[in-house]
Amino acid sequence: MTEASPTPTRLTIDLAALTANWRAVAAKVATETSAVVKADAYGMGIEFAGAALAKAGCRTFFVATADEGRRLRKAAPAATIYILAGLLPGEGAALVADNLRPVLGSMPEVAEWQAAGAPIGAALHVDTGMNRLGVTPGEALAVDIARTKPSLLMSHLVISEEPDHPLNRRQLDAFRAVRAAMPAVPASLANSAGVYLGRDFHFDLVRPGIALYGASPGPNVAAPMNVVATAEARVLMVREAAPGETVGYGATRRLTRPTRIAVLGVGYADGYHRVSAGDGAHVAIRGRPAPLLGRVSMDLMAVDATDIPGATRGDWAELFGKQVPVDDVAARAGTVGYEFLTGLGKRYERRYLGG
Ligand SMILES: *Cc1c(COP(=O)(O)O)cnc(C)c1O
Repeated sequence: MTEASPTPTRLTIDLAALTANWRAVAAKVATETSAVVKADAYGMGIEFAGAALAKAGCRTFFVATADEGRRLRKAAPAATIYILAGLLPGEGAALVADNLRPVLGSMPEVAEWQAAGAPIGAALHVDTGMNRLGVTPGEALAVDIARTKPSLLMSHLVISEEPDHPLNRRQLDAFRAVRAAMPAVPASLANSAGVYLGRDFHFDLVRPGIALYGASPGPNVAAPMNVVATAEARVLMVREAAPGETVGYGATRRLTRPTRIAVLGVGYADGYHRVSAGDGAHVAIRGRPAPLLGRVSMDLMAVDATDIPGATRGDWAELFGKQVPVDDVAARAGTVGYEFLTGLGKRYERRYLGG
């Protein structure tokens, strides 16, 4: 018998793998390695991931929101924490009180920070091609550095997962030009894939996210990392169905052979995308692939366990992990590992290893 479990889904997070991945990135660069732990550490749990990474030696962190920064602050009291969303109107004092550094991403934010006296460090974000957050290179060159006192100059790569794309070099050149105007300010450009673009992209600090969590930054980049997250769901029942019968909503899947269907207690409410079946999509039961059958429902999905000897009620099926790479699962659902990890939902029982 398996142990009692309050929910038919569980997520096992290997913190030793997480810190090993961080060390692997750190070993590749001669400069500081930070950690991007936004979106609840890519779904892994910011308190656990933050504490483990801080213990491993990580000193600088990036989160999306001030709320995430406050949660991380408890787990990593001595850390330098940057808030990627930047400075919301009137929120400077609250950030300062919690020693959270805004990533200043527009000229109004820069002005508001200057007016507050730039009381703690802040990053100046210059947009070199994303057209998202960040001041333009021209605006950055006009920023009064003495009044803004940036502790970091940063930009973000658009397509680092394609090493040969010309935009990488264009962004690098634009970033260097701004950097040259404020040489005393530490600089940062590389995300996970950016680390692998070479030393030119490393500057003073690299900002890996996805690589730490063991997933790939893009289709052309191998994930040389350890698997951190294993998601599993239990087999609620096994049923036999005949050729010609259909499985699931919309009758999208018609069976062509006598089939033993295993019904799993997991669905799109747990972040497993509704349209995931087909094209080799599978889970693993008893170490063997069990192909998805039909559409994923809200709380349930069906898989083909015909070729899995002994598959039975109560078995745990691996949704993704060491046997089924999260990047493959995501690709079959038309998305990327980032989205699967950050969209796992609240119902998983979470277990942490190696903390
Ligand atoms: C998310 C993010 C990162 C990390 O990107 P990965 O591709 O996950 O390594 C780095 N910098 C910024 C500004 C980000 O928003």
